Amino acid sequence: MKKQFAVIGLGRFGGSIVKELNDLGMEVLAIDINEDKVNEFAPAATHAVMADTTDENALRSLGIRNFDHVIVAIGDNIQSSILTTLMLVEVGVPHITVKAQNDYHEKVLNKIGAHKVVHPERDMGIRIAHNLVSKNVLDYLELSDEYSIVELIAGDRVHNHSLMDLDLRAKYGCNIMAIKRGEDINVSPAADENLKKQDILIVIGADRDITRMEQDLF
Ligand code: ATP
Ligand code: ATP
Ligand code: CA
Repeated sequence: MKKQFAVIGLGRFGGSIVKELNDLGMEVLAIDINEDKVNEFAPAATHAVMADTTDENALRSLGIRNFDHVIVAIGDNIQSSILTTLMLVEVGVPHITVKAQNDYHEKVLNKIGAHKVVHPERDMGIRIAHNLVSKNVLDYLELSDEYSIVELIAGDRVHNHSLMDLDLRAKYGCNIMAIKRGEDINVSPAADENLKKQDILIVIGADRDITRMEQDLF
């Protein structure tokens, strides 16, 4: 059976989730308090309805607890976002993803039982900053405050050196999880694997160590 999604709040973030889920062939209920938004997204959603999701009766009458995954993308009205999330938790929606507006909002959402809290502006800002600082950083994924996964492009300094030569684990405490070379991807590179310029290395490690490694070798 197809997974049933509901997206509450059809701003830029919620709206793009609706469109993408729809393109992926999923069933999506799009909800907004604003009628214009509902009309705008009606063609992209399986159903689109106008509702104030802070109204418990309105939320119930949508049968919200029957959805597998509900995304709360109410942006600026933090109070509405929190209240909506709380009611979704109370009725027992199995997966609740909420967009946080700031760190305090994020903290509260985690506390009241949101399953996943996303912070797209902040996270994208972090990724872009890493990209700006080093043009060899293709992508960046924060695992925790201290640890990350980054994609680095190999340059001259590592060309034709093996992982053993470079001694990345001992010198930098970083692990190369995978090497992408054109269409090929090696997910368990051996120590004697020779790196080539333009390889894409997927590295996991502490931020401090990754930065040190980037500066020395990339
Ligand atoms: P983005 O940054 O993703 O564009 P935004 O910051 O513009 O989002 P808002 O416009 O504050 O976010 O909110 C997103 C949507 O949530 C709006 O279309 C708004 O009408 C809707 N919304 C706000 N409160 C409620 C509510 N109580 N019930 C349903 N929808 C709501
Ligand atoms: P967010 O959702 O995080 O608020 P946003 O996509 O809605 O971001 P804006 O709110 O338009 O974007 O702008 C982000 C920041 O840029 C804000 O801190 C705002 O004060 C600032 N800003 C917006 N327009 C200008 C401007 N013309 N000059 C200087 N700063 C600006
Ligand atoms: Ca915004």
